[in-house]
Amino acid sequence: MNAKDLRSDVQRLGEMIARANRIVPFTGAGISTECGIPDFRSPGGLWTRNRPIAYEEFIASRTARDEAWRRRFAMEATFAAATPGRGHRALASLYRVGKVPAAITQNIDNLHQKSGFAPHHVVELHGNTTYARCIGCGRFYDLAWVKRRFDESGAPDCIDCEEPVKTATISFGQAMPEDAMERATALAQGCDLFIAIGSSLVVWPAAGFPMMAKDCGARLVIINREPTPQDDIADLVIRQDIGDTLAPFVES
Ligand code: NAD
Repeated sequence: MNAKDLRSDVQRLGEMIARANRIVPFTGAGISTECGIPDFRSPGGLWTRNRPIAYEEFIASRTARDEAWRRRFAMEATFAAATPGRGHRALASLYRVGKVPAAITQNIDNLHQKSGFAPHHVVELHGNTTYARCIGCGRFYDLAWVKRRFDESGAPDCIDCEEPVKTATISFGQAMPEDAMERATALAQGCDLFIAIGSSLVVWPAAGFPMMAKDCGARLVIINREPTPQDDIADLVIRQDIGDTLAPFVES
């Protein structure tokens, strides 16, 4: 893709944004790669290095829990240092002017909130890795507490109910959060422009939202540097870098 293609993609996207009244962004790991957080499926992504630990395995095995927490703390410097990228900042600009009511995200990195979205306007389909919860009673734990316990005696259990403590994320095999699914459904069904950004659109049920929005009459834009299984139903497919594409929409 050359600079002329990028300019014409940005122009078409700008026209669609200008015409829309209610824009819903749906983001995946690709919006955060320029912030230093690797995605799953790009070459060198997390998937190629670590097989994910499924929920069943986490519950059943102390060794798996120790490994899950070891991996999480190995990523801590990366997550803690990450600041919103151009994509996050562009969406936050559209949110501030009232064009975007809320963002739906598969990401767990808290960067939409850091970019200026109110926490209740970020629908997190896969949870949030910047804090932890007991899988039994749901008690909240901050990561500093988990780290102290982990360093002393490995993956910690809840001080109330003794069930395992886990990052507040949704693992493979774990039930989706009902409230987030309902809110995402309402957003997808009630928008006139839906923009899928930086997702391979292969993780279900999250990947159902772009086609749901399209079925309900929204225009669909997909911004991803690799093809996705929903490109052929999109009104506009932009195979460009996300930061380069969305930078013109950042308002300071
Ligand atoms: P994915 O890794 O399956 O797909 C990311 C897509 O983004 C890829 O197709 C890649 O080509 C594209 N991409 C990466 N950088 C890009 C860039 N700069 N410009 C344009 N395209 C770019 O990610 P997914 O679809 O979100 O699914 C993976 C799951 O992994 C999610 O459920 C999410 O919970 C989790 N995850 C989250 C983070 C995070 O929070 N930042 C990081 C890794 C994985």
